[in-house]
Amino acid sequence: MNNVTEKILALKERRKAVILAHNYQRGEVQDIADFVGDSLGLSQQAAKTDAKVIVFCGVHFMAETAAMLSPDKIVLLPDLNAGCPMADMINAEQLREEKKKHPGSPVVCYVNSTAEVKAECDVCCTSSNAIKVVERLGDERPIIFIPDQYLGAYTASKTNKKLILWPGYCPTHMKIGVDDIINLKKEHPCAEVLVHPECRPEVIAQADYALSTDGIIKRVGQSLSKEFIIGTELGILHRLKKENPGKTLIPASKRAVCPNMKSITLEKVLWALERMEYHVTVSPEIREKAVKAVNRMLEIV
Ligand code: SF4
Repeated sequence: MNNVTEKILALKERRKAVILAHNYQRGEVQDIADFVGDSLGLSQQAAKTDAKVIVFCGVHFMAETAAMLSPDKIVLLPDLNAGCPMADMINAEQLREEKKKHPGSPVVCYVNSTAEVKAECDVCCTSSNAIKVVERLGDERPIIFIPDQYLGAYTASKTNKKLILWPGYCPTHMKIGVDDIINLKKEHPCAEVLVHPECRPEVIAQADYALSTDGIIKRVGQSLSKEFIIGTELGILHRLKKENPGKTLIPASKRAVCPNMKSITLEKVLWALERMEYHVTVSPEIREKAVKAVNRMLEIV
């Protein structure tokens, strides 16, 4: 154990903190975390603990979600510049304008959105439950789906609902090209291809399954296949390799690295615990509305 890690673990005890790491975090950050997982799952797990402080090793909207679900805990983001370009592709004002263009249309927002945007929505969804959420909306009117056009297009293709897609996207998943997958399939004809639904439709069309990060982790663990081509951010390979030492895991593209996720380092985690910064909060008015959208999703699924 190195010096920084020792200091983090000692300070974590003193602060009564819980450390959360998203599946895309650096390996060494995942290794010191109490929980590793997807954004909503992590926030739900942290809410169940009696910790006083949550250190969220992820991006800003994830820390906001943790603050929404744990209003009595202090939520720290070790790097305030760790944002999500996709979440920032729509703000509350833009969404209000979009709603005016489609009066009465329900709004479904992917959890990868800011708290103020969630507060304008009827229901949230994750990449693993988007199809279920959209299907269960009894409404016959077209559904506004934000911010990820590709998760939205994938969801529309699996349901008989009409979705109005916002033109947001994840720049990291855009780095996975269809040629990457086609070439790797030729080299590894027995490999199962698992991609995230934030990928482009032509990439998803080449895959055996489009799954959330936790879905990919479960599938690799349970599948009888020995080889997998993984189409999502590279950080997930750390956990996959640890949990599946006998399996071959091939990244679909070595360029699929999210610089925002990777901006969190062990040194910044230590600094966050020392200085108790950066404190991420959500105002009670926004929180009340945004939590309603999250709860509606939980009721549906
Ligand atoms: S991987 Fe994409 S969706 Fe996730 S934080 Fe990075 S930019 Fe946002």
